Amino acid sequence: VKTAEPAGEEDYSETVAALIHRSAVSWEDIAGLEETKREIKTTYALTMARKPAGVRVDAPRTLLLYGPPGTGKTLLAAATSNGLDAIFFSVRVSDVLSKYFGESSRLISALYAEARRRAPAVVFLDEFDAISRARGEAGESGAERRILATVLSELDGLNSKSDPAFVLTIAATNRPWDLDSAVRSRFAREIYVPLPDDASRRRLLEIHLTEKGHSLKMPLEELVKRTAGYSGRELAQLCEQAVAHMVQRTNPGLEAAVDRGRHAVADYQLRVAPLSEQDFAAALQAIGAPQTSPAELALYTRWRGEGG
Ligand code: ADP
Repeated sequence: VKTAEPAGEEDYSETVAALIHRSAVSWEDIAGLEETKREIKTTYALTMARKPAGVRVDAPRTLLLYGPPGTGKTLLAAATSNGLDAIFFSVRVSDVLSKYFGESSRLISALYAEARRRAPAVVFLDEFDAISRARGEAGESGAERRILATVLSELDGLNSKSDPAFVLTIAATNRPWDLDSAVRSRFAREIYVPLPDDASRRRLLEIHLTEKGHSLKMPLEELVKRTAGYSGRELAQLCEQAVAHMVQRTNPGLEAAVDRGRHAVADYQLRVAPLSEQDFAAALQAIGAPQTSPAELALYTRWRGEGG
C-alpha cells in the first residue's frame, strides 16, 4: 500500500497497472438483467460497428449503473469489457480517496491517459457516490474537490467524442441520491440494476447450485419463492452456506481427517448429497434478512419516480 507522498509519472504507471483486472465474466454468467444487458450491448455495438461513409453515430461513453448492492453492477462492467476485448480498469473511488488522498486526482489523470493509450478500454468507477459525498460535506478538502473536478473533466472529454480512442466509463453506485446534478449530467445513460426477480433468482440458483453439480431434495420453485428480496450476491452466499452445511452433514469424518494432517485430507473422498430443506434453513439463518430492506428499496423507487 502506497502512501500519499509526492510521486513522479512512473510511480503512477505502476499504481495504474495494479488497477487493471482480468476476469472471464461473460454475458451468460449474469442472471437476468436482460434489458440492462441489451442497453449496454447496443451502446458499444454503435461504437464498434462500421458505419456508412459520411455517417456519424455518436454512442454514449459514460454509463451510470445504480441499484441495491450485490446486484451485478461489477459483473456487467466486466462482461462489457470482455465483450469488447477491452482492457479493464477497476477503481473503487473510496479506496483511491483514502489511499492516495492528495495524489488521487493525479492518479485518475494517469489512469485515463493509460486507458487512452491502451484503448479500447473500460474504466469502472465503483462506489462512485464517494466522490459526490465528499463535495457536500463540511470540511471538504482541496484533494476531494480536485479529484471530483478531474473525474468530471475526464468524463467531459469522453463525452465530447472528438477523441478517437474508445474509452468507456462505467460508474456504479448504491446511493444515486447522493449524486448532485452536476455529476449526474455527465452521464449519457443512467441504468437501474434491480434486485433479481423470480426468473433471475431461478437462474442464479442454477448458476450457483445445479451448474456446480449439486442437486436439490426440494422443488427449486420453493427456493425461488423463499429468496425474494435477496440480491445476487446474497444468493451466491446462501448457496455456498447450504453446500457447506450439506458437506458437514454428510462427512462426519472430515474433521478427523483434517486433524490427521494434509495428506489424510487429500486422500479423503468427499461425499455429497442432494441439498435439503434443513441445509437451506441453516443457510438462511446464517445469512439473515435481506441486506436491502423494503424501506430502502422504496428509496430507489421514489428516486426514480421523481426523475432522480
Ligand atoms: P454489485 O457490483 O452490484 O455490488 P457484483 O456485480 O459485485 O454486485 O456482484 C457480487 C457477486 O454476486 C457476483 O460476484 C456474483 O457472484 C453474484 N451476483 C450478483 N448479481 C448477479 C447476477 N445478476 N448474476 C450472477 N451472479 C450475480
